[in-house]
Amino acid sequence: MEIKSKKGNITRSIQHDGDLIRIYHLLFKRFGPQRWWPGETPFEVVVGAILTQNTAWTNVARAIHNLKNAGCLEPQSLYQIDIYRLSELIRPSGYYNIKGRRLKVFIDHLFESHEGNLERMFGQETNILREELLGIKGIGPETADSIMLYAANKPVFVVDAYTKRIFSRHGFFPVTWGYNVVQSFFMDFLPHNIKIYNEYHALIVRLAKEHCKKKPVCFKCPLEDLKDKNLS
Ligand code: SF4
Repeated sequence: MEIKSKKGNITRSIQHDGDLIRIYHLLFKRFGPQRWWPGETPFEVVVGAILTQNTAWTNVARAIHNLKNAGCLEPQSLYQIDIYRLSELIRPSGYYNIKGRRLKVFIDHLFESHEGNLERMFGQETNILREELLGIKGIGPETADSIMLYAANKPVFVVDAYTKRIFSRHGFFPVTWGYNVVQSFFMDFLPHNIKIYNEYHALIVRLAKEHCKKKPVCFKCPLEDLKDKNLS
């Protein structure tokens, strides 16, 4: 049966629209709960989501550790801290001057629009919050949705390069599909459930790191039995 997403994009013929949830269960069975996002507070998750752009999480963890030790992992101190001092603290995360400015732009917005109150910002309706986040310089769709899902607890599916790589390799859609179309695809065919969205993205990252690398290691991969015959 040929399936179309709600936006009318034709996907491969999938046997039934339970394929995505079936894959989810296969991944969960193999890897178990991933306990994302690694952050003690919603604000820490926001900071981590901005710092993790183009770098490994281990580097972000070092930057967050520095911010914590300096007492800067809460809105007021981050608002007040000097940009040069901030950049120095987050140096381990790489691109620290750019990321320092991005953190400052976010925090300035939080104070100008919500009096520094993250709960108030996150209390907005999902679409309004997403638009607002996307309007902040330096926050793209993946960062915005990571903040939405893991810090604000909003039901949005996070898409990244790993998601496109894995599911295009299995013929669900071409790797050229844009962010919003891929996101709609998952949200159309998965239960509208924050817990599943939360775990699924983390499981995808785990799968890509352990098996679905640039050169796929299909042997003993949890999705090995679903592999397309023409997989390269
Ligand atoms: S079976 Fe191969 S292509 Fe499919 S997810 Fe696993 S490693 Fe990637």
